[in-house]
Amino acid sequence: MNDRPNVFAGLALERNAEQRDDAEWAAARLADPGARFLLLGADDGHGRSALVQAAADALRWLSQDERRALAPDLVPTYLGDDGFGALFALSADGERAERLRAALGGHWLDLRSAGARLPAFQSGLFAYARALAHWQGRTRFCGACGAPLARGALGHRLQCTNPACALEHFPRVDPAMIVIVTWQDRCLLGRQPSWAPNRYSTLAGFIEPGESLEDAVRREVLEEAGVRVGPCSYHSSQPWPFPSSLMLGFTAEAEDPTIRVGRELSDARWFGVDELVDGLGSGRLSLPPRLSVSHALIAHWLRQSAGLDLAELLAR
Ligand SMILES: [Zn+2]
Repeated sequence: MNDRPNVFAGLALERNAEQRDDAEWAAARLADPGARFLLLGADDGHGRSALVQAAADALRWLSQDERRALAPDLVPTYLGDDGFGALFALSADGERAERLRAALGGHWLDLRSAGARLPAFQSGLFAYARALAHWQGRTRFCGACGAPLARGALGHRLQCTNPACALEHFPRVDPAMIVIVTWQDRCLLGRQPSWAPNRYSTLAGFIEPGESLEDAVRREVLEEAGVRVGPCSYHSSQPWPFPSSLMLGFTAEAEDPTIRVGRELSDARWFGVDELVDGLGSGRLSLPPRLSVSHALIAHWLRQSAGLDLAELLAR
């Protein structure tokens, strides 16, 4: 069980998933005078950024009037209602994005920074909007017949325009698991060759077709560290739109501590509590950022096994 919500998770939003297909309802939401529009900028290769206010760490929403005046041609994607009105996302590309930013004020903020700096609701909305925008941008033709796709359900469905095919395409979410494996009083962390020196994290990998989550946990830990895993339990999950994952966090117990580092990692080791605390204190060890499930899993283990607070340790 999770001790505090993961970043990007727990979005308090009425998505109205059953109404999105109703054209009359959709038109009314789009015309809502209190509707607000989150603006996503051009994809710079690391995904789209969001427009935030110049002087504050907060989204720079467009009002309905601003959208009508400045961006009537951008097709809004419905996100949901937050109790104050309808929330939509708009995506702008190339110079258009820059012209809008210049007209509205503010600056672009990438999603990782947003996860650290924006209020939880706003960063969660941004993550949600970005995942949908990525899917829309990369799903332009029908995978079955090659015909162009048309948007439906306020951006949540793409429909093949070839009447003989008429296949419906839905947003894609790629499940990935991430796990903290323990052996007695130690936990297993590894590092990828491309990471900064001394950076260690929990092990992770994508679920393959035909696998349960538990199967994937066992396979990945065996592949990456050569460690056989016994019991494993679900911890918590996190939308991770980099570009389209859902991270599923687990805790697991090793059957045997023997490590054989696989091809994906440059190192994997068992860390005791003292080693972790000393490493963080001296700077010889760095852990994944607070916004990740990996961080939450390590924090969970430290609390469970030693009553220590990771946030407090890092603040020292
Ligand atoms: Zn088709």
